[in-house]
Amino acid sequence: MLPIKTLTVLGTGVLGSQIAYQAAFHGFAVTAYDIDDDALEKARARFARLAGIYQTANVAGASEGKAAAALENLRLTTDLAGAVAEADLVIEAVPELIELKRDVYRKLAELAPAKTIFATNSSTLLPSDLKDSTGRPDRFLALHYANNIWAQNIAEVMGTGETATEVFDAVVEFARNSGLEPIEIKKEKAGYVLNSLLVPLLNAAAGLLLQGVASPETIDKTWRIATGAPSGPFQIYDVVGLTTAYNIASSSPNAGSQAFAQYLKANYIDQGKLGVATGEGFYKY
Ligand code: NAD
Repeated sequence: MLPIKTLTVLGTGVLGSQIAYQAAFHGFAVTAYDIDDDALEKARARFARLAGIYQTANVAGASEGKAAAALENLRLTTDLAGAVAEADLVIEAVPELIELKRDVYRKLAELAPAKTIFATNSSTLLPSDLKDSTGRPDRFLALHYANNIWAQNIAEVMGTGETATEVFDAVVEFARNSGLEPIEIKKEKAGYVLNSLLVPLLNAAAGLLLQGVASPETIDKTWRIATGAPSGPFQIYDVVGLTTAYNIASSSPNAGSQAFAQYLKANYIDQGKLGVATGEGFYKY
């Protein structure tokens, strides 16, 4: 089994900060990279918040000491070369923009040692869309986390036809060792397993709202009561973040998705209501 001991996470936003903290909490030495000091300042605040969440939620018996000790396993930097120099695994969690991601991989290909495995956390791109920029398609795959990873702790592992089996297996083992339930995906599939199920639900909810059929509260209540699920689709939108929802909807050729993107922009995003992260989205927190 290829050893994965040192981890570097690129991008410390909603998901990158969670991926970095979760691995640090499970004892990995983690380097978190972002583009400037302002982003790192935000990352420090995110990590401190996560330590509080793990303690309150009692994740894996997280005492105050254990949640705080995780912070000591985290190193923050804006120096990409230094960030990846020792990495066994680099997990990329930068914005969901294909050219930006390709550019990041082209830089990584030059800077990271030959041993380093690259993994993308992209929700909507296939690893095949990015593999040619990595310079090492046999050591590249997708490792896709769900938001709130301390609770919704799945990690979908999905290679391309070129990913080496030993790389796939090592990343499955890493996921397990960092407190995740690995979901082994046998064949490349847009949306993995989770979003193949979730996206049609969210799109249907957006359609019901835009067509004036029912309010977000009514739609959510229907889903919760009738299926026993803890959250309805608009509660899920707020957790995912409305900027991400906007980016996905606006890049779709579908007219309904375009209309929903405009609705989100006019009613929420332009007013700074981005979901749970900003204290208000479809609901107030
Ligand atoms: P985000 O906007 O919250 O964070 C992105 C971070 O990347 C920011 O901190 C930004 O400063 C940084 N960044 C920008 N350019 C960069 C660069 N060139 N190099 C390194 N960092 C850079 O985004 P997010 O919601 O965390 O999404 C990141 C990735 O995770 C996307 O691919 C998305 O599909 C995926 N993802 C998101 C969710 C979710 O629920 N938000 C769930 C699963 C997967």
